[in-house]
Amino acid sequence: MSTIAENIAKVGARIREAAQASGRDSASIGLLAVSKTKPAQAVREAFAAGQHDFGENYLQEALDKQASLTDLPLIWHFIGPIQSNKTRPIAEHFAWVHSVDRLKIAERLSTQRPAHLAPLNICLQVNVSGEASKSGCSPDELAALAHAVTQLPNLKLRGLMAIPEPTDDPVQQRAAFARLRELQNGLDLGLDTLSMGMSHDLEAAIAEGATWVRIGTALFGARDYGTPNP
Ligand SMILES: *Cc1c(COP(=O)(O)O)cnc(C)c1O
Repeated sequence: MSTIAENIAKVGARIREAAQASGRDSASIGLLAVSKTKPAQAVREAFAAGQHDFGENYLQEALDKQASLTDLPLIWHFIGPIQSNKTRPIAEHFAWVHSVDRLKIAERLSTQRPAHLAPLNICLQVNVSGEASKSGCSPDELAALAHAVTQLPNLKLRGLMAIPEPTDDPVQQRAAFARLRELQNGLDLGLDTLSMGMSHDLEAAIAEGATWVRIGTALFGARDYGTPNP
């Protein structure tokens, strides 16, 4: 079995190769390590191998993990579905939220962001696969949502995020990521972030402009969902 450090090196090599193949600077592509369902010790190992940014989907699990890792200078990203009664701890304990898909959530995050912290970095999650996915705003709703979010004082709108319908076909993978990039360009808001690409499709995402790839399985191994998460 590979160690987390070896996996980080392998994923780093995949990112650099994909960047080179499309003439991009690999320094413009961040690796977000998705540590959901994995123990704090796995985060420690990844940190020891140079990884600073971590993504979590389940709030209570994330808060517990953060509490046992306060000795490390980690940057936490919330990437899961958001219930409106859970916005306060998200506003208090994360640097980024990638999964904002409606204005009510954005307003609550802005109101609840503590004044002593920098503005919360926000990506709007867009449903680029139509009916196949339930999360994310529709492309039709995006412009109004994006413009409204730019008006909220304690948020910094950085870009867009998508989780396209899984497919092994690189042409289809690229088409979905290209759609997200085109939507971002269409907004004309000078946004600098495209959060797209996971373990199985990071090459396609980088080819279409990803600036964060969100990688779980390829770093930490397969997830065991045997214990249900709230
Ligand atoms: C779990 C998850 C990932 C990581 O997926 P892998 O296929 O394990 O790399 C990325 N993004 C989101 C939103 C996730 O929920």
